[in-house]
Amino acid sequence: MKIAVLAVQGAFIEHEKMLESLGAETIELRQKSDLEQDFAGIVLPGGESTVQGKLLKELDMYDALKEKIEQGMPVLATCAGLILLAEELSNDDKRHFATLPVCVKRNAYGRQLGSFHYDGEIKGLGVYPMEFIRAPYIESVKPGVEVLAEVDGHIVAVKYQNQIALAFHPELSDDTRIHQMFLDMIK
Ligand code: GLN
Repeated sequence: MKIAVLAVQGAFIEHEKMLESLGAETIELRQKSDLEQDFAGIVLPGGESTVQGKLLKELDMYDALKEKIEQGMPVLATCAGLILLAEELSNDDKRHFATLPVCVKRNAYGRQLGSFHYDGEIKGLGVYPMEFIRAPYIESVKPGVEVLAEVDGHIVAVKYQNQIALAFHPELSDDTRIHQMFLDMIK
C-alpha cells in the first residue's frame, strides 16, 4: 500500500518512518508532478500551516490535493494538517482545504503551554501518548463529525468520513496505533 506524505514543510519524515514500520510504502509530495503517482492515502503533517498553505498554492498542488480529499481519499492530518483541513479557523482569516466541518483555534494553548505531553483516551484505542506542540484544538464540530478524543474539555481528535484529524503528533511517540487505524481504513 502506497501512502503519500506531504513533504513541503514540517514533520513529515517521522510519519514516513512510522508508516514504513507498519509495512506501508511511502512517497513524498514535494511538487505537482508527485501527485501523478499512484497512492491510496495522504498524510498532512505538523509544521506551520501558514507556510504549508502558501507553498501548496505556489507549487500548484492545492487544487489537485483538495479534489482527492473531496473525492474520498483517506487522509491522516496532524496539527498543522488539521488546520489545513478545517472549514473554519476562529482566530485566523485564512482557509485552506476546508474539507473538514470543524472550527479550529490555532496555537490554542498559548505560548507557555506551547508544548506538553498528555496521556489521553482515544475512542476505540484506549489511552494514548499525545504530544502537543504549539497545538490547535477543535472548538466545535458540525453534525457527522465523530469526536475521538478530548483533553480538558477541548476536542483534539476527530474522524469525518475519509478524514482523521488530530491536534497532537502521534508520529513523535512510539505508539503506532493511530497510523495502523489509518492504514486499516484504507484496506
Ligand atoms: N502552530 C502551528 C500552526 O498554526 C501548528 C503546530 C504544529 O503543527 N505542531 O500551523
